[in-house]
Amino acid sequence: MNAADISGLQWDVLTVKRPGLTRDLPPGKEELTWVANSATLIYGSRDAILVDTFLTVEQSRTLVEWVAASGRNLVAIYVTHGHGDHFFGLTSLLERFPDARAYAAPEIVEAMHKQLSPESLDNFWRRLFPGDIPDRLRVAEPLDGGELELEGQKLVVVNTGRTDTERSTALHVPSIGLIVAGDVVYNGIHPYLGETDAESRLEWVAALDKLQALNPKAVVAGHKIPENDDDPRNIAETRKYLRDFDRLNAATETARELYDAMLELYPDRANPGSLWGGANRAKKRT
Ligand SMILES: [Zn+2]
Repeated sequence: MNAADISGLQWDVLTVKRPGLTRDLPPGKEELTWVANSATLIYGSRDAILVDTFLTVEQSRTLVEWVAASGRNLVAIYVTHGHGDHFFGLTSLLERFPDARAYAAPEIVEAMHKQLSPESLDNFWRRLFPGDIPDRLRVAEPLDGGELELEGQKLVVVNTGRTDTERSTALHVPSIGLIVAGDVVYNGIHPYLGETDAESRLEWVAALDKLQALNPKAVVAGHKIPENDDDPRNIAETRKYLRDFDRLNAATETARELYDAMLELYPDRANPGSLWGGANRAKKRT
C-alpha cells in the first residue's frame, strides 16, 4: 500500500503553453520560444483543492472544464505567488465553482494587488497578450495559519521568500510527499531571472534547499515541459541552473556572452527569452 492509498489523496497536473514574455531575443532558438504553466489538482474521494490558475481567457476555460471533469467538489484554490500568469484565472474558477474560496499567504495577496496596478496590468500584461487577459480580475483572500485541509489531510504552506519574485511560497502535502512548487522550481524551462540579482539568487538556492529537506516524492514546477515527469530532481536541477548562471555571469562581459554560455549548457530548455531577459538584467550598468 503506498502513501496515496493511506491518505486517500491524489493529484493531477494540467499544463498549457503560451508565448514567453521576452520576445526580442537573438535568433536561433525559435522552436523553443514558448513557456508552459502548470495547475495542480489535489483531490480525495469527494473534494479537491486547485493550486494556481492560468493567464488567458482561453486557458482559464480549459482549466475550468478540466477541474469540472474531475467530478470533485472544488473547495479551495491556493495561489503560490503574485505573478499574473498564476492567478488571472481566478475569476472564471470562482464563477464556475461559487463554493470555492481562493487563498494565498497574506504577503502574496499584497503582491497580487500590485500586479493589478495599471502599470503592471495595462502596460505589461495587456500589451503582451492583447485581448486575451480576462476583463475582471480578483485577488485571493489572505490565508492565516499557513495550512489548508482536504479530507482530513494537511496542505502546508512553505514560505520560500525571494525566488523568481520578491515573495513566493510552495504547497506541501506531507501525507503523499507532494510539493507543488510554484516558481521556486522550474522543469525543463529557463527560469525567470528578470526580478533577481546575485543576492536574491542565493536566497532562491536556500529556498530550494528548504524544499529538498522536506524529502518530497514528487515536485510539480509552476513552469514545466508538458511531457516531463515531476521528479524531485528538478529541485537540484534548478539549483544547478542558478549556480551556473552566477558562475558564468562572473566569467563573461556582455549579456550576449552570458546568454551564449548558458545556452551551451542548456540548449534544450524552453523559453530562451527568459534567459535573454535575465542576462540583460545581470549585465545592466546603472
Ligand atoms: Zn510563473
